[in-house]
This record gives sequence, structure tokens and C-alpha cells, in this order.
Amino acid sequence: MNNARMPRAALVIRSLPGVESLEREEDGWCCRLAHGWTTDALEGGGTIIDRSLAMIHAYVRDAYQTVPAAPAAHGGLSAVRFHLTTRSTNAKTGPMAVSTSSRVTCSPVCPFLPQNGGGCYAQSYPLNLHWLKVTNAERGVGFKEFCAQLRSLPANSKFRHNQAGDLYHNNGRISRTFVKELTSSVRHLRAFTYTHHSLTMGENLSLIKYMNRQGFTVNVSTESEAAADSAIAAGLPAVMVVKSDETRQSWRTPAGNMVLVCPAQRIEDKTCADCMLCHKRGCKVIIGFLAHGTGKRKAEASLV
Ligand code: SF4
Repeated sequence: MNNARMPRAALVIRSLPGVESLEREEDGWCCRLAHGWTTDALEGGGTIIDRSLAMIHAYVRDAYQTVPAAPAAHGGLSAVRFHLTTRSTNAKTGPMAVSTSSRVTCSPVCPFLPQNGGGCYAQSYPLNLHWLKVTNAERGVGFKEFCAQLRSLPANSKFRHNQAGDLYHNNGRISRTFVKELTSSVRHLRAFTYTHHSLTMGENLSLIKYMNRQGFTVNVSTESEAAADSAIAAGLPAVMVVKSDETRQSWRTPAGNMVLVCPAQRIEDKTCADCMLCHKRGCKVIIGFLAHGTGKRKAEASLV
């Protein structure tokens, strides 16, 4: 069927990232995703047949690539894209600067990667679409320009690095060059981020400690009280994903640290911009995040 005879809804689906084809067949519409693409809704599959275009759209609009190429395959750090939003309109973060790093920065041991079980909140629409454009170099800039953009933010600005993505690495080893340059570029800001990188690989532990010592808060992302306690014992700030139906607002872990559920998830109109606990808090306070997004059930499966 040529484009002129396609319903508008079909043309919208065909323009979505990852959609290879959409054909009308005897028993409905058949939508195929390109090789290496899927959605959480399709649970690893790449084809959906349905009579309803609205249903197909709901299934494939969050499509993502299952196997991000290794950074080296992209030509190293200089080829990786970063995007800075100087004033976010996201209801949760509130009006502050936020960045997005190409998908290749994700830690290979992150339990929310599709190949590790899935459930990443950033793979929910519309953030997923923005992230994809950064990953595919349709948006964002190279690392040097990104650092220049950060340096030009006003002193004391609030900055969340990575609404999606992680610290640039090579096969799980965080890059020292990247860390030094990024840390010096945010020295004048109230900056924070999160990481799923392994603390036992390469120089990861000492680099994360370095960033925290320099005032750039890098929270270790965990999925259990034991892991969060262990990160705190290592001298690092920790955050932890908790079940979406958790009703407690705060509690103590076995090591006596306090878990405090993210205020933006329990208080209406509270945003990161007016909370900033992920930047500064007591060293024994773990921020708990209720699993959310379209992949929350998968994320909950990773909880220990
Ligand atoms: S704890 Fe505060 S700063 Fe951290 S994510 Fe929640 S609202 Fe944002």
C-alpha cells in the first residue's frame, strides 16, 4: 500500500523509531520492528499483528534497541552524544538543568537493561523518544561542547546529570578522562547523578569517590537494602528502587541506615528543584524510589 492510501494513524506508526514495516494483511495490520529492536510490551519480540492501529501504536511507540553498541564501536568518547536541557519542563524534576547521555553510556551490569531483565523507567514514552534521538545523534552535542555548555550555566545552578544514561565507560570501566573533565565542568553547580556501574571494576570505586569529594554527588543505584548498606559502608551515597506499592515513607535498614522515599513521589507538587536531597543529605540516608514507568513490573522483578 502506498503512503497516499495509508490511514494517518498508520503513517504515524511507520514514522516511529525502530518500525521497519507496517502492512495491511488478511487478519489485520502487521507491524515489524527492525532487527535488534523491541519494546517492553512485546517482551523481547519484534512483530505485532492486530486489527487496531491504536493498539499497535500503544505497543510499539516505546520501541528501543536491545543491544546498544559498545562505546568503542562509536569511536570512543568524542563520538558519544550528550544533551543539555537548561530548564526542564518535567513535572518531577521541576525547573532545573538536566542532561541526557547516549544509551551507550549505560552500565553493562544495570539490571534494567533489556538484556538483563528490563524495566528501565527511561524507556517510557516520551523520555524514550528523546533518549533515542540523543543516542542516534539527532540531538545533543559532543562531549567537549557539552562540558562547555555546563561551564556556562550560572554558578550555583541545580543540575541533574542523566535523566537517562550513565557515566561514560569502556566495557564497564568508567573513563577517568570523562570523569575529570565532567567533574571540573560542574564544579560551580549543585550537581548530582546516579550510577549503576559496578564498584568492583577498574577504577570505578575511586572515581565515584573522587566525584563525590569534589561536590558532584554521584548516587550509587541499588535494588536491595544490603547493596545500599554496602555502598554507604564504602563511603558513597546510595539510592534504592523499592516496590511501587510500598506504603512506608521511611524505615531503617539492617545496618541502621534510613530509607526515605523520594519526596516527589509522595508529596504533590514537590520537585527535585525544591528538594535536592539527591545532591545533599545525611550520609546515612538512602533515597527510595518507587518503581515506576511502563517497565515497573520488570523493575520490581530485580528487587531483592
Ligand atoms: S529525593 Fe528529591 S532530589 Fe532526589 S529524585 Fe526525589 S525529589 Fe528529586
